[in-house]
Amino acid sequence: MNRQIELLAIDADDTLWTNMLFYHEAMDSIKNILEKYTDTALIIKDLYEIETANISVLGYGTKSFIITMVEAAISLTEGKIKAHDILEIVTIGKTLFSRPVELLDNVKETLAELSQNYTLMLLTKGDLFEQQGKINCSGLIGYFEYTEIVSEKDEATYSALLQRYNIAPENFLMAGNSLKSDIFPVLNIGGNAVHIPHRSVWYHEDVPADEAGRDYIVISDISELTGLICQNYPQKKVEI
Ligand SMILES: [Mg+2]
Repeated sequence: MNRQIELLAIDADDTLWTNMLFYHEAMDSIKNILEKYTDTALIIKDLYEIETANISVLGYGTKSFIITMVEAAISLTEGKIKAHDILEIVTIGKTLFSRPVELLDNVKETLAELSQNYTLMLLTKGDLFEQQGKINCSGLIGYFEYTEIVSEKDEATYSALLQRYNIAPENFLMAGNSLKSDIFPVLNIGGNAVHIPHRSVWYHEDVPADEAGRDYIVISDISELTGLICQNYPQKKVEI
């Protein structure tokens, strides 16, 4: 590889800070409520189906999660769930908004190094209000020249973004924890990608990793990004 990286984009949820773990905790609390009414073995399948249908209508994020949980609770209990339990589910969901942003290990140090030599973009998908709040609380905004919050990370989104910034795909690198959102669509448009897996994968983002002919790098910790990029791509900090 001998490509110049003019724009280095980094994902946020479960790449810079903890995200899925908080949702898993919220779901465990909600399952405890639903156990009073129904067999928990049914819950995951039902949730997945309702969530999948809701993403295309409501998008990603906690507000969508809360509506999905209430809908699933009513459906799973065949309407028997009590109003105070629905209120408890909404309260559990709302506490997700007040969780402090917990940076993952080595994030700050790595961004401090990378921002010396590369133009950094924080590129996250989800609810604008929610993501903006997390970015503001993260203390990381000073490392990024650009911040983009998009509703979906697919080929069309990446192509439009690169066109807007006037960057050729071969000069773009995306680093993140999701193969589905951060890696494969970027490779599909001719860009570069570095996968930083996180132990918590959301089932909607969980796709097989073994697609043949995929040319991307996997690292186990964000701190490896600096050495890897310096080694594989000539340094170039450009004005965009
Ligand atoms: Mg992510």
